[in-house]
Amino acid sequence: MAAYEYETHSFDVVVVGAGGAGLRATLGMAEQGLRTACVTKVFPTRSHTVAAQGGIAASLSNMGPDHWQWHLYDTVKGSDWLGDTDAMEYLAREAPKAVYELEHYGVPFSRTEEGKIYQRPFGGHTTEFGEGAPVQRTCAAADRTGHAILHTLYGQSLKQKAEFYIEYFAIDLLMSEDGQCQGVLAWKLDDGTLHVFSAKMVVLATGGYGRAYFSATSAHTCTGDGGGMVARAGLPLQDMEFVQFHPTGIYGAGCLITEGARGEGGYLTNKDGERFMERYAPTYKDLASRDVVSRCMTMEIREGRGVGENGDHIHLNLSHLPPETLHERLPGISESARIFAGVDVTKEPIPVLPTVHYNMGGIPTNYWGEVLNPTAEDPDAVAPGLMAVGEAGCASVHGANRLGSNSLIDLVVFGRAAAIRAGKVVDPATPVPDVPKASLQKALDRFDHFRHASGGTPTAALRDEMQRTMQQDAAVFRTDKTLAEGLEKMTAIAGKVGDLKVTDRSMVWNSDLMETLELTNLMPNALATIAGAEARKESRGAHAHEDHPERDDAEWRKHSLAHVDGDKVTLDYRPVHLDPLTQEAEGGIPLARIAPKKRVY
Ligand SMILES: Cc1cc2nc3c(=O)[nH]c(=O)nc-3n(C[C@H](O)[C@H](O)[C@H](O)COP(=O)(O)OP(=O)(O)OC[C@H]3O[C@@H](n4cnc5c(N)ncnc54)[C@H](O)[C@@H]3O)c2cc1C
Repeated sequence: MAAYEYETHSFDVVVVGAGGAGLRATLGMAEQGLRTACVTKVFPTRSHTVAAQGGIAASLSNMGPDHWQWHLYDTVKGSDWLGDTDAMEYLAREAPKAVYELEHYGVPFSRTEEGKIYQRPFGGHTTEFGEGAPVQRTCAAADRTGHAILHTLYGQSLKQKAEFYIEYFAIDLLMSEDGQCQGVLAWKLDDGTLHVFSAKMVVLATGGYGRAYFSATSAHTCTGDGGGMVARAGLPLQDMEFVQFHPTGIYGAGCLITEGARGEGGYLTNKDGERFMERYAPTYKDLASRDVVSRCMTMEIREGRGVGENGDHIHLNLSHLPPETLHERLPGISESARIFAGVDVTKEPIPVLPTVHYNMGGIPTNYWGEVLNPTAEDPDAVAPGLMAVGEAGCASVHGANRLGSNSLIDLVVFGRAAAIRAGKVVDPATPVPDVPKASLQKALDRFDHFRHASGGTPTAALRDEMQRTMQQDAAVFRTDKTLAEGLEKMTAIAGKVGDLKVTDRSMVWNSDLMETLELTNLMPNALATIAGAEARKESRGAHAHEDHPERDDAEWRKHSLAHVDGDKVTLDYRPVHLDPLTQEAEGGIPLARIAPKKRVY
């Protein structure tokens, strides 16, 4: 048994993560008078949310007609009918309120001539209602929307006197014998001390796990730590097979060029200079949803129409846009293109390739952010004391495919919802639970094990194996063969965690150990992804299965649940919520169930 000294802290609520979701939750909890701590492994404004470019979706109707029901419809269709309708309705309905709230908190949105919040068209936003043109729903602060939101929310959280624990790495959840989450163990990176946070509610806002793949637009810190902690606590992960490839990562570098570039009029071409999206998606063209555009690009490349010496990428053209549009609306990506591709966007196209961008799957929750631990009797049973919000969670509003600009709105709507819910279920007057001793000891032992790991496999080597396998075998297009082989390889790779080698034994700024802990978090996320994909014999949203090219609603309109234990994955399923929250029609489309149909753009 490992013996370590630790400091103790007790709070009503501990939020792990200070991205958009974590900060919106922290701010909301503190506003309600709950004693709230926010624990984060990076400085809050360095969270990946800072990199969000294009914008945040809300039906404000500032630049032409829009309705929250249209937003709901687009989200249901975008999700390929896998999202939970109650959560999607909550998102679309609450979105305008959440954006105005951000405006009042001080987010410097771009403006229209009349001074309203500027909104641009984005992929998969409807052309089916109104006048047939895509609605303009994506509110933007130039192409630095995430940056603006994150800085504003951090300032507001400080104002509400939330307590920040910055550069503290959360290691594991502390769970009571009867399955209640009662806190979290964390490691202060700069002085090596350990900290036990006891709380009545723990909120995981740890972001996505893009770094399970070799080429991703996400930050190196996006290692699915929340998913790893949840898997170790014996709770399931949901819909992990759905991984979004963004059509326009810069070729070679992986950095993102926002969909807003196509929203402002940019378009893709193949080696013949053809605007090929017109062939595949005659109505939405370059603004079809991301899974569709990524597949079309991959098909062009496969059929020998890719650009470049090796015919292995595609061109994104912006040079026809007025220089003032590039300067005012897309300054950040003009700079990225110059630095990472050596391209002057006013003169030349940007070389791009579909790149891993977002995880639709995550920790299952209801639309209040409460984590679910489904049972045979109750598929919506709640795991007490635990919430998850943001990309780490799966409410599920994105289903099998997320629409652009629907993540930032997910962060603030559900960060806020979690705070409202905590205001109801957390009583500041009751005592904070004691530290569950057995769970703490288990977490300390695991930490100690990796600190002294002396096997034969360096962390970086195993991470590389995992990333290449995922990139190759859980790709844009999947087959029975690639998935079966991928699952076998990933099982073997996960088996090698026992053979890891850490060379630095110190406690202070031990990045070797931190990256090892991160790898042990990426691993269950990656395993659940490929196992879920291998089992799902249909194509839906981002899961494009060549041996099962059609969506199969009768058999597969259900959420997958993966319990991961070491290198073993056990799969189960739970029903999709089909009914909206409100049954009445309110203009726009009637709020009955939105019946599945073929998804064409
Ligand atoms: C380049 C890029 C551009 C994007 N553009 C858009 C866009 O325009 N519109 C849109 O809607 N979406 C966009 N997205 C998606 C969206 O930005 C993300 O899904 C979203 O920002 C995730 O926010 P989050 O709060 O869940 O997590 P993050 O912002 O990733 O924050 C995670 C937080 O968790 C903390 N954390 C993680 N693990 C631990 C641990 N073990 N201990 C302590 N702390 C931990 C980190 O310190 C961090 O504070 C973009 C994504 C990328 C990568």
